[in-house]
Amino acid sequence: MTPYQSILTTIAKEIATTPITGKVASYIPELAKIPSSKFGMHLYCTNAGHYNIGHQNERFSIQSISKVFSFTLAMSLLGDELFTRIDIEPSGNPFNSLVQLEYENGIPRNPFINAGALLIADVLVSEFSNPKKELLDFIRKITSNDTIAINQQVFESEMAFNHRNAALLNLMKAFGNIRNDIDTVLDLYTFQCAIEMCCKELATAFMLYANGGKLLHNNEQIITETTTKRINAVMQTCGFYDEAGEFSFRVGLPGKSGVGGGIAAIHPGHYAVSVWSPPLNPKGNSELGMYALERLTSLTGLSVF
Ligand code: GLN
Repeated sequence: MTPYQSILTTIAKEIATTPITGKVASYIPELAKIPSSKFGMHLYCTNAGHYNIGHQNERFSIQSISKVFSFTLAMSLLGDELFTRIDIEPSGNPFNSLVQLEYENGIPRNPFINAGALLIADVLVSEFSNPKKELLDFIRKITSNDTIAINQQVFESEMAFNHRNAALLNLMKAFGNIRNDIDTVLDLYTFQCAIEMCCKELATAFMLYANGGKLLHNNEQIITETTTKRINAVMQTCGFYDEAGEFSFRVGLPGKSGVGGGIAAIHPGHYAVSVWSPPLNPKGNSELGMYALERLTSLTGLSVF
């Protein structure tokens, strides 16, 4: 059997001596307070259980990783109809860019850049009477953990500096692609980004995508296999903004990052993995997180490629 635990130990040792050039996100002031030295990793294998290292039990702000969960709900609710309002192509642009949206008539490139996730939030506001509760309940269900919640300080901190996301919403509204009140949609989006989870919880939640849309512990089918396949494809091509190619090239897994320094990734049929290290590279992805996952797929020989 693959010696998963000793591979994680090797990765943690390497990480401890790898120089960091990245910076902890500071445009959301509350995130800048997190020590850059935090590092945790949790590997959850379909047939071989849990392995972990470092601060893997400490919750952090999942930020854009939440976009996978909101997209999952929107896909389940609307199916293909969703794709009249949003595309599924890599953006090749920074996560919070406004540029493409202007010349593409308010249709976001994909659900994992901010414009796309804001549009998905608009869909959830239309479809649910209490979208915050529905989203949180969904995450709690797939994680089997009712204590998952938001960090109120992070929520307020981002709300106070949300001008760019408000601009994205206004631009899409001007093109007729946002149907609800802008403040309501912004509130939901900022809420979902402020959800906190630890590496173990994220790996458990992402097992859904590694396991064909079924919960591993009881085989309950939460989303269809087709929906799962599609979400994984979008993670592969769009999960890392303008670094999606680099992540595929180095790591070779579908995944999603967040500016809290987390990355969750999957190998369908094999494992879900999550890593946390706050310093971000210039593209907004965890610098050491990417390194750790690159080492994981190299040392185990298990990537989708
Ligand atoms: N809440 C963050 C934002 O909107 C999420 C960005 C991210 O994690 N890439 O800027």
